[in-house]
Formats: sequence, structure tokens, C-alpha cells
Amino acid sequence: MKRIRTGDQYLVKQINKSIVFETIKEKAPISRAQISKETSLNKATVSTMVSELLEDSFIYEIGEGQSSGGRKPILLYFNNHAGYSIGIDLGVNYLLGILTDLKGNIVEEMRVDLLETELSYVTDQLFTVIQTLIDKAPESPYGIIGIGIGVPGLVNQKTIITFAPNLKWKHIDLKEIVGEKFQLPVQIENEANAGALGERVYGSGIGIANQIYVSIGVGIGTGIIINNDLYKGSTGVSGEMGHFTIDMNGKKCSCGNRGCWELYASERALLEAAEQMNLKTDLSFLLNEAKMGNPKVLQLLTTLGENIGYGLINIINTFNPSVIIIGNRISMFQGWMTNPIEHVLKDRLSIYQGQEDQIEIRYSNLNHYSTALGATSFSIAHFFNKKI
Ligand SMILES: [Zn+2]
Repeated sequence: MKRIRTGDQYLVKQINKSIVFETIKEKAPISRAQISKETSLNKATVSTMVSELLEDSFIYEIGEGQSSGGRKPILLYFNNHAGYSIGIDLGVNYLLGILTDLKGNIVEEMRVDLLETELSYVTDQLFTVIQTLIDKAPESPYGIIGIGIGVPGLVNQKTIITFAPNLKWKHIDLKEIVGEKFQLPVQIENEANAGALGERVYGSGIGIANQIYVSIGVGIGTGIIINNDLYKGSTGVSGEMGHFTIDMNGKKCSCGNRGCWELYASERALLEAAEQMNLKTDLSFLLNEAKMGNPKVLQLLTTLGENIGYGLINIINTFNPSVIIIGNRISMFQGWMTNPIEHVLKDRLSIYQGQEDQIEIRYSNLNHYSTALGATSFSIAHFFNKKI
């Protein structure tokens, strides 16, 4: 018989502990006996792992559950207040910070407008937001466990922001800057990737293995979830689908290409079209006018919806996802975009015809929190990976 080396035993123990913990997180309240049944781990192993998790303060036990006779089982719960995490959505012209418990429930939030994009200005604002949230965190065994930041730019495997065109940043090590200041673990991720994860873990994409998150703000970013995992590409910068060519002789884009999707289907595209019609270039104004039935605005939104649809055709043909989630600020117009999008897909996408129930277009239900929640979920996952 092959002997198990000590290192392997340690690994097996870590895996078992993690399985027990995940089961409690997902199925709580749950008894030790139920965990054993769910996981096929023997009762002694479950009991040992539960004791360690109790000691770590990651779970707690209370009360007596229902039992068919005999001793009533004690039920275990995930202690989502064992620590708190900070999630930041660093936008081009705003900064949203949230303080969450370990389940992603928002406890505090703070939003500031960014009037400049210069690094030292932005980091000053960032430090203020983070410090304010830290000061507001309730007492807990682990305190602030880390900071996750979603940024509007390319983030490579070494978590360096290689390029953030709208902020005009190149090769910025924000992880180092923030980590140095607060002496906490920091995770940096592209905003659309963070948003995709936010939807996957907490939002419209819970339980969906193959989904694409389309973040439509000033530009368009996309986050790709394949088989439940974020797909990041070989150097970490996948998902630049806003720069799909939808008009090969079209307008010139700052990325160097022509006719990119985001030039026709983003918030910026909507505002430019509004300007050409002599309408006020303001999203809340356009939303109000749409509600009042202003025909010019309704026409703009129909065109926008159709243009979004043309890009979605490329995404669906490439990935065959079961769900596409449209998020970020443009989703405020969902009531006016749904029909034009559907119309384009039905008209032009053969695999969609008769399969409408298999490719679903959804909208973010996290409002404007997708990226911040995704960022906090990176931070929480990193914490548990280290601790368990
Ligand atoms: Zn482009």
C-alpha cells in the first residue's frame, strides 16, 4: 500500500476543512450529521473540522434543531460577522466604496465624485473612502480582512494596471500603493470582471455556469464566466468585447481600431447622439424624457438597443452562454432597450430563433453595486483561501 506523506495528509485535511466550511456556508443551518451525509465525510472528520472552524470563529452553533426522537442536533451557522471586507468600484468619474460582511451584505457605503483623473488626486480620494469605511466597521474577530478594487482598465496577471485609457493611466501598481498605506491584502481586478463575479456570486447570475456580463457605462467592458470561473485569457486581459468591430469602415476608436461596438452602444454613444439632436446630454434627463414619452428620446433608445443587440450577436455566436447580464448605468434604460434588442436577435441570430428560452438576456439586479460587490467577493475569497 502506498504510504501517505505528511504533506499530503496536511493537504487532505485542508481540503476536508474547506469542504465542511463550504457546506455550512451554503446550507446553514445544518447539523454535523447532515454535513456528514452531504459530503460523505465520516462523522469523526466532520466533528474535527467543525471544532477547528468554531475555534477560528468562522462558524457558530446554536439552539436545537428538529429531530425525530433522541437527542436534538445542534445547528451550525456561517459567522458572516467574523470580519469585514471593503469593495471599491473605481469609475472614471466616481468612486464607490462599500463595507460588507463576509457574506457580501453591505453594511456601509460611501460615494464621491472624481473631478480629476490624476493618480495622486484619485489615490487621495481612495484613501479617504477606505479610511472612512474602516472607521465605521463594527468590532469583529478578524477586523478588516482586505480590500478589493475594480478598475476601468486592463489588469495583468501581476495585478498591475497596464492601461486605463479613460483615466489615462499606464503601468500603475495600485495594489502596492493601497497595500502599503493600509497594510491590508489588496486585490485588483478589471471592473467588468469584478462585475461579472458580483453578478455570479450575489446577483442575476447566481447558479449560472456560463454567463457573460456586459458592463455598459462610458465604454463597454465584458466579463466572461465559463464553467463557473472567470475566464481571464493568457495574460489576464480578456473581455475587451467593447472593441469588437461592428462597422469595419466606421468611426475611429481610441484603441486604434475602427467601428468598435462601444462607439455605437455605450453611454457615451447615447450622449453623443443626444447632443446631435440638441438634447441635454445628461442620463437622468434622458430617463425622465423617456418616461414622459419624448419621441426623440424614444428613437435614441431604440437605436441604442439595436446597436447593443448587434454586439450581443457576436457574443452569443462566440460563447453560446445561457445568460447575458447587462449591467452598469445603461441598465436604467432597460424598459426601452429590451424590445429592440430582442428584435435584432430574433431577426439576425439563427441560433436564437426558437431558442429564446435558452439564451436569456437579463439585467443586473445589483443596481450600481455589481463591481463593488465583485471586488469585495475577491477579497473575501482571498481571505478564506489563506485562512482555511
Ligand atoms: Zn476600440
